[in-house]
Amino acid sequence: MASMPELVSESNVGQFLDSFDAFMTDCDGVLWSGDTVLNNANIVINKLISLGKQVFLLTNNSTKSRDDYVEKCVKLGFNVTKENIVSSAYVLALHLQQLGFEKKVYMMGTTGLAKELDAVGVKHVGLGPDPLFGKTFEMIDLVVLDPEVAAVVVAFDPYFCLPKILRAASYVKSVPGCLFLASNTDESFPFKGSNLTYPGTGCFVRSVECAVGHAAQVMGKPEPHMFEVLRKRHHIKPQRTIMVGDRCNTDILLGTKCGLHTLLVLTGVHKLDDVQKMVDDPSLNDQVPQYYLPSLGDLLEFLK
Ligand SMILES: [Mg+2]
Repeated sequence: MASMPELVSESNVGQFLDSFDAFMTDCDGVLWSGDTVLNNANIVINKLISLGKQVFLLTNNSTKSRDDYVEKCVKLGFNVTKENIVSSAYVLALHLQQLGFEKKVYMMGTTGLAKELDAVGVKHVGLGPDPLFGKTFEMIDLVVLDPEVAAVVVAFDPYFCLPKILRAASYVKSVPGCLFLASNTDESFPFKGSNLTYPGTGCFVRSVECAVGHAAQVMGKPEPHMFEVLRKRHHIKPQRTIMVGDRCNTDILLGTKCGLHTLLVLTGVHKLDDVQKMVDDPSLNDQVPQYYLPSLGDLLEFLK
């Protein structure tokens, strides 16, 4: 039986700050909204870094490289480097590196993912448009599979199309032991003030899974992989790590699955009313955070 989260306050902040060495946080809805910093979140992050905490900014977004993210963070006043940024594209590349993968990846994705694969020396094909040629079913005689490919990676790809599903599914089904990985399964991109639904990576992943007949291994939140790859790389301990987020079904769930401390901030998707529903429904208890704060910036008064 879960109970409502504890507000971080004067009386428990000492215990709260002493409970973790590694601070992992979601970005959008916690640190910023679009290009606007949320209530002193940058000052809090800089302060935590200066206090010697290991800070990791986590994002499921696979379209930007970590260098792109550092640029955005620095512009917004976060004193972070590449080592502080953890994207699903980076985790994917690190996973392949940790497996000692030496063959070629067939990728659906953008230059952000390609850069991360390049950085760990993993060869790849598939970047950019793949136009339909011949009549629809003539492709069966015209498409030639690359014999070096032994992994398929599905991430956000604006050129997603039938020939790409055909290639991805064919590799997974015909290459013995072919890896089948996805950056994340986010359903859509939130755009405030528009009535359009912008499809997320999950739509691409599900299409390939449908053709293949089994699920891809997902790297992004809420799957534990994001933490596992970080744990190996930085030797961090679950019981000394906190996961911070604004969404219970991704950020907080990741934390619970990995045995981390969890903190919900109320500057994004989920509010206390939502948490109450998760407390009341036993099937959602693993999405209930341990602590909450109105905003990350509210930590500032305790850090001086
Ligand atoms: Mg968020």
